[in-house]
Parts: sequence; C-alpha cells; structure tokens
Amino acid sequence: MSEPAVGPPSSLLDLPPARARDRLHAWATGRGLPAYRAGQVARRLWTAPVASWADATELPAALRAELADVFPLPRLCADVVQRSADGTVKFLWRLSDGEAIESVLIPSGNRRTLCISSQAGCALRCSFCATGRMGFRRNLSAFEIAGQVRETVLRNPSDKPTNVVFMGMGEPLLNWPAVDTALSVLNAPDGFGIGARHITVSTVGILPGLASFAARPEQFRLAISLHAPTSMQRLGIMPIEKKYALDAVLEAARAFRKRVTFEYVMIAGVNDAPADADALARLARRLGALVNILPLHPGGAPDLTPTSPQAIAAFADRLRHQGVEATVRRSRGLDIDAACGQLRVETERRRRHAAPAVGI
Ligand code: SAH
Repeated sequence: MSEPAVGPPSSLLDLPPARARDRLHAWATGRGLPAYRAGQVARRLWTAPVASWADATELPAALRAELADVFPLPRLCADVVQRSADGTVKFLWRLSDGEAIESVLIPSGNRRTLCISSQAGCALRCSFCATGRMGFRRNLSAFEIAGQVRETVLRNPSDKPTNVVFMGMGEPLLNWPAVDTALSVLNAPDGFGIGARHITVSTVGILPGLASFAARPEQFRLAISLHAPTSMQRLGIMPIEKKYALDAVLEAARAFRKRVTFEYVMIAGVNDAPADADALARLARRLGALVNILPLHPGGAPDLTPTSPQAIAAFADRLRHQGVEATVRRSRGLDIDAACGQLRVETERRRRHAAPAVGI
C-alpha cells in the first residue's frame, strides 16, 4: 500500500462540512463547472467517503485527477487492528508524521460506539492512565480526529458508528479548535450525521474549554472524569486538580444545562471506601449527574490495584440507595490492550524488544 498523502493545512477534511462545500463551490464555479458538481464532490468527503478521488467514479476522470492535485485526501494508516473475542476492535492509526493514535470500536446490540483520540499522548499524567505515561506529543488536527471515523467507515461501511465518545488518547478540551470542527463533522447532516446526544466529550474539566463546549447549541453530552469525591483524593491521582479544582469544575458542569455523567475509575484503597460512595452521591445529587463506574483497566496502571467486582457492585448499590443513577461499565477488550493509550505503549514496547535501536 502506498503512503497516504500528507494533508496540507488547508485540506477540505480539516474544515467543517459547510465551509468545505463553500470552498468547493467557489472552486467549481471558478473552473466553469456545473454547480451540482460541488455537491457531488462534497458528499465524497464524509457522507459517502472515498479513499482517494480515483474511487469517485461518478465524476469524470479529468475532474478526479484535478481533485487529486488540488484537494488531496489525507489518510490515517491502520498500523495495528486487534479484534477481541467480545467483538471490540482496536485500531492503532499511524499519522503522516509517524505519531500513533488509537480508536476502539465497541459493538453492543444495535449500537456501535467508536472511542476516538483527540491528542497524540496526553499532558495530564493521571496516575492510572497509560496515555498519561507517554506524555504529550501533539494536538490532532480536525481531520485526524474525525478521520478516525472516516477510516473506520472506509474499512467497513457497516461499522459506521452510531455513537462517538472522546475517550481515547488525549484531553479534548485542551485541543478545542480541532475538537470544535470535528464535532461539526460528526454531527452535521453533510458530515456523519450522528445525533448530538450520541456524541460524548469526556474531560477532566478544563474550564476555558468547558465554557466553549457549553456555548455550542447542540445537545452534545458531557462526561467529567471525576475519579475522586474530594479535592485531596483527586490531587493524589490527577495532577490537573492543582489547576482546575473539583469545586470549580462542578460549578462549570452545573452551568452546562445538559445532563452530565461522572466517570469514576475504581482503585482499591484509593477511592472505593463506603465513605467515598457517600461523598460521591452528594456531588452527583447536587448536579443530577449519572455516575459511570469504570473498573480499573490493569494495563494502564501496573502499580494500582483494581477494586474487586463485588466491591464495585456494592459501591454502585450504595450510590443507588442514595438516589443516584449509577452504571458499571463492562470492561471490554481486556484481551486486546483496550485501555486508553495502552495499544500504542504496548506496540512500542514490543517493537523496542523486537528491533534493537539503531544509531547512537
Ligand atoms: N482526557 C479525557 C478523555 C480521555 S480518558 C478524560 O480524562 O476524560 C477517557 C476515560 O478513560 C477517562 O474517564 C479516563 O479516566 C478513563 N481511563 C483512563 N485510564 C484508565 C484505566 N486504566 N482504567 C479505566 N479507565 C481508564
């Protein structure tokens, strides 16, 4: 397979669909092409994507060749694809500069949820997270974010996700301009047309980003990675607590107007005591938040111990008895490195062991 084209900053795939259409329209009119051509070309960006313009066989060959010159279509290269026995598929995408990012496709009944990355690496260094361990590499472009959905669809159109969650690598609200555009691509009818209620942005609570996200008129969902019911405990596992403290994050979440989910990863002896459930219940009731309990994926945190399934169930019950809606996420893809950031860490480790480093 040839190397995918490197996307110029002005790639059509880096624009919200409406702006890409305008740009194509201006270009088509400038070339004296019939007006309908712009629409025909635009649908090949997201709604009926093609891997390259050559595949858009409804267009004249000369136009396809010209499009390839003027508007090259960047790609993400599937470096590793792991399929779990439970149907979960994990992708490691290679970007044009060699960085690698992950997505996970999680089928469940009629739903297919794609978990996507917003940054290569992550600066937040949460103690339980594999991505945090590798540190921050760079922000993704809008195309590199929405492109994770595009590539999934190109590989298999029937895998088109019904739901998208920003729970892969990175902190979406530290890359707001690109995430902002990617949200438009995911939601717009001339993008992927995924309902806003089926798109969730997960964040530790970056306050300026939260304000920008709240200002969008669509009913996108917000998930706050809480993971501890008090500022002191949160500080122990999430360094960002120093900058954006729990109380301020909760205030911002309250201003969000839409229903909020708290994510809470269960770590033995750290945040799983009955008193923690009681404190968490108070916070959740204050905001009318749903609590999504995540079993600690051991791959992300070799030095931390997961809470036992029995203790997790008891913790969830304790929340429910206090009037809080709580779900326990089934750990999916345990056999395929499916924790946030884990596939890239594991792939790099295996490569290091397989091929000794060259040079000095
Ligand atoms: N930075 C964003 C989104 C990426 S992480 C955020 O923090 O919300 C997506 C979710 O996966 C977060 O709730 C994160 O805490 C959780 N997560 C990370 N590592 C994990 C692990 N080892 N086990 C279980 N959940 C984990």
